[in-house]
This record gives sequence, C-alpha cells and structure tokens, in this order.
Amino acid sequence: MQGCYPHHAPEACTWSRLAKIVTLADRLSSGERESLPEDSSQKKVVETPLTCLSTKLAGTNGALEDFPMLALEPDLKHWFSPGPHRTTYPSLWEAFNHEVAKLDKGVAFDLILQQLMSLLEKYTLFMPAAAYRDRPDISLYHHLKATAALAGCLYDLEISESLLEELLSALKGSAKHQPTLERGDFLLVAADVSGIQDFIYSVTSEKALRGLKGRSLYLELVCQAVAWQILANLELPLANLLFLGGGHFYLLLPNSQKVKEVVQLWQDRANTVLVGAHGGRLALVLHEEPVTYRNLLRAPAGQEKAWVSFAEVWRQAAAGLAREKRRKFASYWGDPQSVVEILGPMPATGEEFACPICSEELLLGPEGICEACTGFADLARKVAAARFMEFSRFDPQPLTLPFTSYEQVFQAMGVGFKFNSDDPPRPERALVLNQTDIFTPKGPCMGFTFMAHHVPRRGDGSVKTLEDLAQIATGIKKWGVLRADVDNLGLVFTEGLGPEDRTLSRLSTLSSLVSLFFSAYVQNLIQREYGESVYLVYAGGDDLCLLAPWSLLPDLSRRLRDDFSKWTRGRLSLSAGLYLAPRDKFPVYQAASEAGDLVSQAKHEGKDRLGIFGQAVCWGDLETLATVKEQLVSLLNEHGAPRALLSLIKASWQEHEQYTQTKLPLYRVWRLLYGLRRMTERLSRDKKTGAIGALTELEQTLIINHHLRSHTDIAIRWAEYLTREEG
Ligand SMILES: [Zn+2]
Repeated sequence: MQGCYPHHAPEACTWSRLAKIVTLADRLSSGERESLPEDSSQKKVVETPLTCLSTKLAGTNGALEDFPMLALEPDLKHWFSPGPHRTTYPSLWEAFNHEVAKLDKGVAFDLILQQLMSLLEKYTLFMPAAAYRDRPDISLYHHLKATAALAGCLYDLEISESLLEELLSALKGSAKHQPTLERGDFLLVAADVSGIQDFIYSVTSEKALRGLKGRSLYLELVCQAVAWQILANLELPLANLLFLGGGHFYLLLPNSQKVKEVVQLWQDRANTVLVGAHGGRLALVLHEEPVTYRNLLRAPAGQEKAWVSFAEVWRQAAAGLAREKRRKFASYWGDPQSVVEILGPMPATGEEFACPICSEELLLGPEGICEACTGFADLARKVAAARFMEFSRFDPQPLTLPFTSYEQVFQAMGVGFKFNSDDPPRPERALVLNQTDIFTPKGPCMGFTFMAHHVPRRGDGSVKTLEDLAQIATGIKKWGVLRADVDNLGLVFTEGLGPEDRTLSRLSTLSSLVSLFFSAYVQNLIQREYGESVYLVYAGGDDLCLLAPWSLLPDLSRRLRDDFSKWTRGRLSLSAGLYLAPRDKFPVYQAASEAGDLVSQAKHEGKDRLGIFGQAVCWGDLETLATVKEQLVSLLNEHGAPRALLSLIKASWQEHEQYTQTKLPLYRVWRLLYGLRRMTERLSRDKKTGAIGALTELEQTLIINHHLRSHTDIAIRWAEYLTREEG
C-alpha cells in the first residue's frame, strides 16, 4: 500500500473492500457525516493539545481546557493542570517507534495487535484524533480503538463492497441511500455481575481482610474472563471491549445470529459455573441492544431532539440490563434442582464450627478457614505482590464440585490467571500491572493494565488486620471505611455531551478517563503515600472503597475529591461516605453498608459532599471544619487548654440546634463568648500565653454573625476523637 492512504482515499487503493471497511469505520467512530476538506493551511495544528472532554460537558461553565500531550503514566499528576503546552508529537512519535521496533513482528497476529494497542494507549491517549478539521476533544487512542472495533464488526458481517459504497455515499449525504443507515448491523452487549455487594462484604470481621480483597478481585477477573472469552470465540480483538470495570462490561459486536449464540452460550456457561460454585449468590446478567449506522452519527443541526445517538443506545442498554437483573435466573426456576442450587446451602447451624470468614462452610482447612476462603485470601496475597498477570485460554473444563477454589471457576470458564512478582517466564502471555512499560528482559509483554490491589503489610509480610489498622489511628483507636463514587455519571454519559457529540469515540474517551482515575491513580496514590495504612478493597469504574485508621480518612477523602476535581477540571464531582467502626470486631459488611448509606445521604442532600458522623457536608465546609478541628487540637495538645473547652462548645452547639429547630428562644451566643473569656482568664493566670491568641483565633473561625458555624459538632467530635487515647 505504498503511497496509498486507504482510509482517506479508498478508491485509489487496490485492497478496496478492506480499505472501504476502514474508511467507513473511521468515519462512524467519530460520527462524521461527511468528509470535510482537510484544511492544512490552518496554523498550529502540530501544537494543538487534547481538549479535556469533561470541560465540554453540559451544565459546566467556563472555558475549554486542555490536557498536556505526554505519554501515559499511572500517577496522572501531569494531567491535573493544563501545564505548559509542550508540543510533543515528534518526541512521542519517536518513543512510540522505538518501542514498536523492539516488538517481535513474527509472533501471532493477535499478540502483535494487542501489543500495538497497548503502545498506542500509552502514546496516543492524550493526543487529539484530529486537530485540523475537527474539535480536538477525542483521544487518538480511543478514535483508533473504536475504529478497529467497528472495522472488526464490518469485516465479520461480510458486507458486500457495493453495500459499503452505499453506506459511504449515505454518509456523504446521498438522499437515495439514507435508508441504508437504518440497518442494525451492530450489537451493544452490556453485562453485569449481580450480587456483588453481598458477595464481597458478607464476610465476618474476624480475619475479614484476608477474604475481602480476594473476593473483589475474583469478581473483576470473572467479568474479564467472560468478556475475553466472548471476544476470543468471535475472533474479535480487545478493541471491541468498550468498557470493563466495577463488575460490568460493554462489548460492541456484529449483529449476527452467530454472535447472539456465542453471547448466549457464555451467559449460560458463566451462570451454570457461578450457580455451581456460589449457589446463586452471583449471576451474570446480559442485555443486547442493536445499533444502527445512524446511531453512530452526530445529530445534524435541527434534529438533535429526535436523534437516537450512541449515548442513547448505551442508556437503553443500561436500562435493559437493570430490567434483566430484576428477573435474573428466570430461566432456572422451572427446574427444582436449580432452585435448590440458587437458594444455596442452608446457613450453618453450629456456628462455632463454621468458617470464620464466610460463616457458611463447615469443612475447615488447616488454618481454621474453609478452602474457598483460603483460596480468596491466597489470590489477594498473590495479586498484591504481583507486577504481572499471566493469562491463558483453554477448553473449558467441567466444574468440579464441591467448590473449594476460585481456580475451579476459571478452569470451568476456560481461562487461567497467574500472578507473578518476578519477570514472567512467558511475557507474551502477561499483562504488566500498573505500569506502562511492557518490556521485560525476556521480551515484550502482551500489554499493560491497571488494577487497584494495594494492601498494607506487617513487617513479616502478612496483611495487616482491622485491629492493626485501628491501632495506627491518631487519638481514638478505630478503623473506618471510606466509599466514594462519581455524581450523576449515568446522566453525564448519556446527556452530558452536546447532542452532536454523543458518539462512540467520545463516550469511550470520557468513560476511560473517569475509570483511569480510580484504577490507575487511586492505586498509585495509595501505594506511594498511604502504603502502610490503607487497605484498598476496590477502585475502578467510577467508585472506590477502602479501609484505614479512621484519623486518616477525612483528609484522604478530601485529597481524593480535590484530585478528581483537578482531573476533570472541576466539571465532575464525587460524593463520599466515611464510617467509623464502633469496635474492632465490627462486621466489615455492616461498616461498608453504613458508609454506603452515608454516600446515599450525601447524594440526597445535593451531591458533591461527604457523609460523616451521620451528616452530609459540602467539601468546602469540610475544609473550614478541618481548620476548626486543627485549632481545637492545637489548643488541647500544645497550649494546655482543658478538655472542658470541647464540652463548652458542644453545649453551645446543642443550644444553637434547639434555636434553629424551634426558632425560640433566641440563641445566646454570649454564653459561649463568656465561657471562652473565663477560660482565657484562667489560662493567662496559669501563664499559658500561647493559648490566649489561639482561643481568639478559634472564636473568629467558629462564630459568624453571632452564630456558630454550621456543622460545628463535626469539628468538635473530630477533635475529641483525635485527642482521646483510649480505644
Ligand atoms: Zn469460608
């Protein structure tokens, strides 16, 4: 194809059918209606960076902002601000070529394709797909990935060359060929593992941490296994996996009978295996939506309202999935044996002999926990230390019962996952974890992936327990749970982008940017700065859950919120919930569920908030409360102020609350002021002079217009816990 750029001028190329497929896929990927002239006279093309897509979202004011054009790194720190605009096309191109040259071109096509995709992700994720005839808001990587996915579908559909021509001329505006665009040639398959929350968190507190992480990883791998198997069976590349994370995935497939059969086959196989292993607590739910060529196009001016965009199809798929989830297992109810399997084993009666992690299994292994839980704990241990994930595929084996290990499930699904902390013996089968350099001394890996897997360890290498976490807290010795997720994400994906922008590659760009924050950045941050004390249960998709000494959590939640805000240029927000376990042995599932309720409360009261001590606080207010807390702590710890200071403000707060609820009697702020003056006099008699200035400062932060600052009780409790030593 020397001298021939097939996707720009297909007719000039001899491989015309393939060239037409790529041309069509390229145009559909960004929803182009027609080929506009490429205006290369326009200046500064080579200097144009990628627009940060979140700055284009509806309802967000302010100017469009850019991402610096650099190769992807897991700490994401270069992308938190626009930074100096460096023109790095030539240097990125050079680095990309250098790595491509190191690949072995003689390997299987699937492998080289996967390796190239990984290198493209690394070098072109923050490069605009087009800067001369289009707005530079689509990542080149996502444009290429979507193009490859569509081209793969078109190729498999065996569409004739004349039909390809009709479609291309329809895109050029040919009135005669417009009906061709209504063909539902693609299929968007949405999948979700239901029962995740219960499955992950239904562990008792005793030894809970050993099981928790393994369970959440196991579910991620189950999703990955099914998605990869469907694609491998259809001989489609991973490009057709549009999204994977948070227990669900989305695939773009050709709409054919064969594809539907393969999808059905894998849904049935996965559910048979999951029911066999977990007695119906977990189920894989799938939903398919047909996609037409028109769905992939941008809405033309004047037709925005009635246009069914790709984002709308995505929304319908998600809604369909939610309906399917409600009727999960409908097909199994007819068979009495299946019903027994779905309802699962009866709960253990002699609880003192049951597995202390899942409390269901009575057959315990040498460590006093059941074999399945031992397996999950083992998985967590291996993954936490891993730098590589090796993946293999083989013919599915029948599920051996009883279920004693996660490996049985993977064998029954025809996949194997192996985690290596040393260089993998067969790098071509491995994905590098949480790094973007795919080269090892033994050769290049298949690619890279991000997986939040950090757990804190003791000196002897074992995972810290909840008691260990509680012990490292400052002040009162408690552990806590933090959960957070992105506000309005469903709406953002379907309606956030302007009607003309709801295309496949934009949606793909946006969802991957959100997901990258959780899977890459959160893992990196925790490992780098909170490695000793934070147990990352899960981070990916659009949410996270972690366990830590409680005293770390308010600041950490604020840090995560601030960084997410920088990442999205303040256009998307997070709501979080922070729950302090009342005692060390408090059940993790209950603490996680309480934290989840606090997230819901934060969302209910306006979103972009933290739920803490039973209240929802705006992040901005939390910052001021942190100042009040600091002042109180320093008064007590450094200036020798008595603890009675806390009770004084608490009493005043209670009176203030009564006043705001009943409006009567008048709130008498002078009582508090009087109390503070008395305390000042006493401190000055005791020659504690530093305290006097500090008390005046506190008074100024605390009292505004003769009223106590809102949520003052949170600051009091925060300071009280930080300065209390007992557990
Ligand atoms: Zn167990």
